[in-house]
Amino acid sequence: MTTSAPGPEVWFLTGSQEMYGPETLAQVATQSQGIAARLAESAELPVRVVWKPVLVDSASIHRVVLEANSAPGCVGVIAWMHTFSPAKMWITGLDALQQPLLHLHTQSGMALPWSTIDMDFMNLNQSAHGDREFGHIQARLRVARKTVAGHVDSPGVVSRIGDWARAAVGRADLRHLRLARFGDNMRDVAVTEGDKVEAELRFGASVNTYGVNDLVAVVDQVGDADVDALVTEYADTYRVAPELLPDGDRHDSLRYGARVEAGLRSFLAEGGFGAFTTNFEDLGGLRQLPGLAVQRLMADGFGFGAEGDWKTAVLLRGMKAMAAGLPGGTSFMEDYTYHLVPGEEKILGAHMLEVCPTLTAGQASLEIHPLSIGGREDPVRLRFTADPGPAVVAGLSDMGERFRLTVNEVDVVEPDEDLPQLPVACAVWRPRPSLSTSAEAWLMAGAPHHTVLSQALGVEVLADFAEMTGTELVVIDAETTPRSVGRELRWNAAYYRLAQRL
Ligand code: MN
Repeated sequence: MTTSAPGPEVWFLTGSQEMYGPETLAQVATQSQGIAARLAESAELPVRVVWKPVLVDSASIHRVVLEANSAPGCVGVIAWMHTFSPAKMWITGLDALQQPLLHLHTQSGMALPWSTIDMDFMNLNQSAHGDREFGHIQARLRVARKTVAGHVDSPGVVSRIGDWARAAVGRADLRHLRLARFGDNMRDVAVTEGDKVEAELRFGASVNTYGVNDLVAVVDQVGDADVDALVTEYADTYRVAPELLPDGDRHDSLRYGARVEAGLRSFLAEGGFGAFTTNFEDLGGLRQLPGLAVQRLMADGFGFGAEGDWKTAVLLRGMKAMAAGLPGGTSFMEDYTYHLVPGEEKILGAHMLEVCPTLTAGQASLEIHPLSIGGREDPVRLRFTADPGPAVVAGLSDMGERFRLTVNEVDVVEPDEDLPQLPVACAVWRPRPSLSTSAEAWLMAGAPHHTVLSQALGVEVLADFAEMTGTELVVIDAETTPRSVGRELRWNAAYYRLAQRL
């Protein structure tokens, strides 16, 4: 539980006070270690849980907070007031805290021992009012946090802590993200613009542009052996179209696709980049728009945005980090076209090429088809249809004075029929509560057409992430009506204006 192995960890802090005496404080420590151990052993927490000695004074609280702020592996702090911890001792510590905070309101035992309960039990089990004191000081100091109440063995309690821990892992990942843009964003497009300085302050992501020919130079230097190795890997992994195989007449196109992948990987690794963007308007000496390479890099956890869309690339990278280890995929996505038959409404999502193959457990096919956009050679790409099941679609937009994260709960479904003529990967989904309400709410929110679709994450992880990063959140789910979203957007506009620093 407190080993020093690397990897993300959350610190478990327990509040109490000296007044109870050493004997009671020893029991407090034992019980809080039990709660921390229960969390540590849960598969729902993607982090190690590090228990810290019971806190009974202001100086030690301040000290442990400063340590949590700077500890390399620490991504967040869980606090529980096992007993009454007079909260003025928490003021300087909470004021200094720069890590995500979860207030766990729980108690050691689930059931009261009705027939044997005495004053010793009452003195030991005081979180019912101890945590209220802590809730007050957090509210008074306006500390961003998530509050979770309930016994750790009750349904949903640990999974809600797990959602928060996943959001914290994503936030921590973005704090050090370097993103390479190959070219600027698509000319004249509004929604892919944004404030990169604010993004670095808010999320930590460092977003910088490189000439696409800097990449071309690396791609052109890739050795034949590296290309051969990738071509073999493709044949082992995908259903490769016969014309792309070594004896096929378009094998050279596949080799060039492999060369782009190897070059991109090497460029990104050398610069320590975890995300990137491309732009079909600015391909320099690239002979194909990167499709296959982008798809495979996304599958390995890289963030990506097409048309220079760095905000979606940042969001995708963060969501990939949050989703690590969960079943289901997470991909760059675009609302492309509609099926508007009443009662059967669906969205067909796709892009020119760049959809992540983690969206299917099935085998993708590797194909080549013409691409009318970009004016280059036909690009190789993976083709598949996303697996059905619940998912979220999330988009990040820059509203000028803040970022807004819009999230729609959806259900990915099988297409009504096969799509033999569609030459790209796609996903088909029914947005909740309905296509019309979802689309109306999405448009009212000014949310983007480029999104991240995730089968792995639910709304709560993204809500926790928004809270941690001071990002406005708009959720479109089964409860949403156009009027409810309209009101929420107006209230949010007032809140974020008032909450701005002068
Ligand atoms: Mn696009």
